[in-house]
Amino acid sequence: MDLDAMIDGVRGGKRRALARAITLVESARSEDRKAAAALLDGVADPRRQALRIGLSGTPGVGKSTFIEASGLMLIGQGRSVAVLAVDPSSTRSGGSILGDKTRMPQLSRDPRAFIRPSPSQTELGGVARRTREAIALCEAAGFDVVIVETVGVGQSETIVAQMTDIFTLLLAPGGGDELQGVKRGIMEIADLILINKADGDMKAQAERTRADYAGALHLLRRRDGDPEGFPKALSVSSTEDAGLSQAWEEMASLADYRRGTGHWDRTRAAQSRHWFEEAVRHGIVRHLTADAATRARMEDLGRAVAAGETAPSAAADRMIEHLFGRD
Ligand code: GDP
Repeated sequence: MDLDAMIDGVRGGKRRALARAITLVESARSEDRKAAAALLDGVADPRRQALRIGLSGTPGVGKSTFIEASGLMLIGQGRSVAVLAVDPSSTRSGGSILGDKTRMPQLSRDPRAFIRPSPSQTELGGVARRTREAIALCEAAGFDVVIVETVGVGQSETIVAQMTDIFTLLLAPGGGDELQGVKRGIMEIADLILINKADGDMKAQAERTRADYAGALHLLRRRDGDPEGFPKALSVSSTEDAGLSQAWEEMASLADYRRGTGHWDRTRAAQSRHWFEEAVRHGIVRHLTADAATRARMEDLGRAVAAGETAPSAAADRMIEHLFGRD
């Protein structure tokens, strides 16, 4: 498929073209990077904006069940849904535990849905770029909702929050004192905390957990430009389809509010600027390490630091001087 056909296909919402386009942006080969840049420019259309939802939760909390049930509900409401995954763990495990089609059997068969498993990853910086570009492609393809799924392991949440409009954290009933070890940082970026599995024997426990989190969220400062009541904690059951429509209404109403205040546009602009600066930083490092003499110098200094001959910061100063000279 040549580039023009790919651009037309993506813009026409064709699944096959979109899948190929994402494969292209996932490639790290330099000739593919050039084509990917032309592709992204070619499909860009600021009038097409999806609602980008970041969704995080530890394995077993019910992410795929929630996405499957929510996706089918959204499709039933006439919306199209794309699901992407950020899985920094797959370098080690060698396979993806997220965004797997077999985890969402009904949704993956629906022509109005698009599910993309996460590729095997090399470095976190690469994960961010590929995911961001995959989001842009899904948006250009006209999807109404793009769900970016991630497993709750810390760094990936921050990355996902920087490329989505609304961040939702999925938790299981239970918890207590340390609130299930959810790091304060994740609480601070969450717009919505959903206590899943609020059904059967776990219903009462889910409600207590919800109240605990609602209390904890109340202590966090409301974010500038957000309405009263956010961030919010709700309980849902993905298997019984309870509370899901309310959860999505909350996300939609928060998005509408932010659009109305201009907060939405400002956040997206700040995100774009952030990723531009990150890409420049990555590019600089890539260029520098491509140079054999620079790599050798890094290696020498690294050895000296490891042997305790030089302090890390002094060695870093010498490396910077070597690269850029004295000021
Ligand atoms: P993931 O690893 O976060 O994607 O979790 P899964 O969606 O695979 O769910 C893990 C297990 O929890 C499965 O056995 C699900 O059937 C179950 N589960 C998911 N959502 C619910 C729910 O709302 N209620 C109950 N009772 N079980 C659920």
